[in-house]
Amino acid sequence: MEQKETITPISDFGEFGLIKLLTGTLKTNNGSTLKGVGDDAAVIGYSGDESILASTDMYVEGVHFDLAYTPLLHLGYKCITASISDIYAMNGNAEQVLVSVALSSRFSVEALQEVYQGMRIACEKYKVDLVGGDTTSSQTGLVINITAIGRAAKDAVTYRNGAKPNDILCVSGDLGGAYVGLQVLEREKQVFLSNPAMQPELEDYSYVLQRQLRPEARKDVVEILAVLHIKPTAMIDISDGLSSEILHLCDQSGTGCDLFEEKIPRDDNTYDTARSLNLDFTMCALNGGEDYELLFTISQADYEKIKNHPDFTLIGYMTDKESGVNLVTTSGNRYPLQAQGWKHF
Ligand SMILES: [Mg+2]
Repeated sequence: MEQKETITPISDFGEFGLIKLLTGTLKTNNGSTLKGVGDDAAVIGYSGDESILASTDMYVEGVHFDLAYTPLLHLGYKCITASISDIYAMNGNAEQVLVSVALSSRFSVEALQEVYQGMRIACEKYKVDLVGGDTTSSQTGLVINITAIGRAAKDAVTYRNGAKPNDILCVSGDLGGAYVGLQVLEREKQVFLSNPAMQPELEDYSYVLQRQLRPEARKDVVEILAVLHIKPTAMIDISDGLSSEILHLCDQSGTGCDLFEEKIPRDDNTYDTARSLNLDFTMCALNGGEDYELLFTISQADYEKIKNHPDFTLIGYMTDKESGVNLVTTSGNRYPLQAQGWKHF
């Protein structure tokens, strides 16, 4: 007898839709679970005035990284910085990581040691301790999972849902570089595949390549905000692209936003390289991702404290929900922002 069952392709949902489907109806059983699924990290609180922050990320060969051009040392480094970025995005400090690895027989002990050496360098730089994990086999490629644990004072923890209309939207650093770096690497890979005798020409791209291969996490931003006595009203890290992250803040805060194209911070090397690859810089910043900068909102009362700070750029402001989430272009047009982000499925 033929059995009828519904088979829905995962691509019908996309990453965020799938998370909502699987976890949207989860109930918590413990009072210590202060915040479950839905922010950069879970928030766990016992007695006392500090909370524990916990977040986990998986990095899959062929999906998140390509070993044709990713040095193993950088891969280890990036897995750590990308993971602890979620703890800083909660306005906390990362202190421990758990590292699990699945690998096939294609990898040697020396190769794995190289990955762990990269992790060790990142842990040393960010003063994080690697305290455990699991190692197992994989049939096809390399999979790395990192759980990051951190802490923050309970009243310092910053969620995605606290932005209010008229709050100012701010971002650290500059954007688009990691995506442009990825495009350079993909292009060189194609050149190499068609003519293996060709040597890659990468000297001009050091900034964007570093942004892609060896990104830093913005631990310093959390420290600077504390010194300035600013507690953001909402915060998120930029892993999927500026558009996607702004939409998360607006969705969870119940606000709209006006983002000004001309304010989006850019590095000259990113901008020039994007142009040389026939890429639009704004698109790279909006949809590229992996910049691991912090995107946050502050109340108008904090404007004077931050307006001329060299580490931050004010790129827009929050509006009421009915006004929508818009990009105000350099030419003065308004377009609704759309999330492209990474399509893993
Ligand atoms: Mg995040």
